[in-house]
Amino acid sequence: MDPAALQTLQFARLKNLVERVYTNVPFYRSKLDAAGVKPADIKTLADIAKLPFTSKDDLRDTYPYGLLAVPQAEVVEIHMSSGTTGTPVVDAYTKRDMEDWAEGMARTLSGAGATRNDIVQNAYGYGLFTGGLGSHYGATRIGATVIPISSGNTQKQLMLMRDFRTTILTCTPSYALYLAEQAHEMGIDPTTLGLRAGCFGAEPWSENMRKQIEAAWGIKAYDIYGLTEITGPGVSFECESQYGMHVNEDLWYPEIIDPATGKVLPEGEKGELVITTITKEGTPLIRYRTRDITFIIKEKCGCGRTTRRIHRLFGRTDDLLIIRGVNVFPNQIEHALIEIQGASPNYVIIVDRSAQTHLDEAELHVEVNPDAFSDETKDMESLRNRIEATMKSKLGINLKVKLVEPKSIERSIGKAKRVIDKRQI
Ligand SMILES: [Zn+2]
Repeated sequence: MDPAALQTLQFARLKNLVERVYTNVPFYRSKLDAAGVKPADIKTLADIAKLPFTSKDDLRDTYPYGLLAVPQAEVVEIHMSSGTTGTPVVDAYTKRDMEDWAEGMARTLSGAGATRNDIVQNAYGYGLFTGGLGSHYGATRIGATVIPISSGNTQKQLMLMRDFRTTILTCTPSYALYLAEQAHEMGIDPTTLGLRAGCFGAEPWSENMRKQIEAAWGIKAYDIYGLTEITGPGVSFECESQYGMHVNEDLWYPEIIDPATGKVLPEGEKGELVITTITKEGTPLIRYRTRDITFIIKEKCGCGRTTRRIHRLFGRTDDLLIIRGVNVFPNQIEHALIEIQGASPNYVIIVDRSAQTHLDEAELHVEVNPDAFSDETKDMESLRNRIEATMKSKLGINLKVKLVEPKSIERSIGKAKRVIDKRQI
């Protein structure tokens, strides 16, 4: 669809959405009234900026049915994510919502080249979590053969992969790496199994990890993005160019805002991703703040798809570190380190505030790659200087770098702890 036609469609859907939530969801009626906006004020697509944001707290406060925009009889499925803070976030789907979700995931798998001839081994967890069933619906929509094995059961995963000649794997990126390691333990070379692609998401990962997965399996590894609040997986996906994720923006409309001011940023600027579910019937959301940091890629994609792309996520607004007024996302440090020969992407940044100058001081501890580790002081000195210069040019701040021995930074089982902030602010 050409961009002008797409925008006409998006506007019609947005207008319809605002009318629906204003009429059917008391939460949104009071929110719009408080903001002084009526559905009739939405006259162009840009008028979306007049609408108030929806936050994760709003979802928790209205648990379980407070955001439902249709009678319960219209709801055919419910999913939720629990997260770490208690009250679950609920997504209720009508028949139409299920179709859109399957469509979004079918496009996602197609982005990785999936067709009805593929055998998709779905190792995302089935259940309330959206990853498993979302991928399942998308694969069946395409007509591919699904192996609904769900997460875990590693030996069986590998056995079925070998026996049924799985061609596409869907799971979290960390599980993809773990599966490859376990294959070696079982005496199986993962590159001989016939897998050719994987769709990986549901947790943050990096280009470095992509290279590791691709090398371990001999496949193409595709980044996918979605969240329970919006629909689950299927919101955006990589195509064969593997640069940026096409947003299914006829269904889920993206904006990028300045997380501090809430102002919409020009296309191409980095900020917080905000999504409006323009076709959603069950639990539609207006301008949902995802807290994920990215930017919209302006250039047209070589694959021919005309939907806009978002860049691989840079982290979350909750991880944002402000050092001497400069915004730093820990992921940027990791991306910079990958480019430096001799440095490993294992690091910790320690931020403190000087008692004398009251200025922020940041020290970056970086593990040296085992093969680059040297007793020669001048080699280590040169590596340290290169890291400091790279950080200065990529992040725009002076970081004091300290090199540490391979494997000396504590490993965590869950999310790696990259930041130690000692400032008393
Ligand atoms: Zn593309």
